[in-house]
Amino acid sequence: MIVDAHSHLMWYPDHLDKRYAEAALASKLVKLKRSGGEAYQGKLDLHAYDSLPEEHWKASEPAGKVVVFGLQARHSGIWIPNEIIAHYRDEHPEKIEGWASVDPTQDGYLDEFYHCIETLKLTGLKLGPIYQNIHPQDPRMHPLYAVCQKLGMPIMFHQGTTFPRQAPLKYASPLQIEDIAIQYPELKMIIAHLGHPFEDETVAVIRKQPNVFTDISAVHYRPWRYWDSMVKAVEYGVENKILLASDFPSGTITNVINGLKNINKVVDGTPLPRISDEVIDMIMHENWKSIFPQWASSNKEV
Ligand SMILES: [Zn+2]
Repeated sequence: MIVDAHSHLMWYPDHLDKRYAEAALASKLVKLKRSGGEAYQGKLDLHAYDSLPEEHWKASEPAGKVVVFGLQARHSGIWIPNEIIAHYRDEHPEKIEGWASVDPTQDGYLDEFYHCIETLKLTGLKLGPIYQNIHPQDPRMHPLYAVCQKLGMPIMFHQGTTFPRQAPLKYASPLQIEDIAIQYPELKMIIAHLGHPFEDETVAVIRKQPNVFTDISAVHYRPWRYWDSMVKAVEYGVENKILLASDFPSGTITNVINGLKNINKVVDGTPLPRISDEVIDMIMHENWKSIFPQWASSNKEV
């Protein structure tokens, strides 16, 4: 089974403010999104970064299970209500796994988190310290870590760079995940996007911390960097901790799979190392079982 471990619902102007939508548009990201590196065919306007449920559903066709969340980050002009995630999950409960996002800089974020767990039945948490303008070790973060560890809820961290100017890089290092992993040893955490452009830090952290993982969402369109990071991951023996994921709308699961299958193209005809078919197969079909053991007995092959 194909599992997409990271994807989004959001649309302008309900969930993204003008400044964020403009920054997304100005970044190369929108032109690359969904395209696998080809020229972006869609209309380039403030809606170019939208992910509507019907678009998300169509793009998710190759996957058997898809993790979907929003993001709440007042500092960056991003505010996706958790209700839309739960509603979408309720429409497709066999396939969609809804996760929460809360903004620890905002009053009432813990109440909102409990609401997500108890009422909306969301089963994981998305945090983006760089978007939320908060250090991963800020005291406001710890209740979330403690609850997630206690309930066995994984956390997806956007730990790495992004495009909005006001998002502080000082909170973006994957190394900051290590202290959390030591304090909450049973807490499962995923560093999104290989922690780009700090992929070396990500490899170092996931190698040492048994319950920290990473994903390959939205990195295939930088082919040299992607190949280089994956070679490092294999050399350090952490290929079993890399999850398949799209970060839709930044990529589609189809394009991420194509990018993975073509990862060695950039070194074709050279003596440089290659990512083996076994590793590619493991990332596509096996590695998700560490985060979602409850789905491992499902024999649905996609
Ligand atoms: Zn994301």
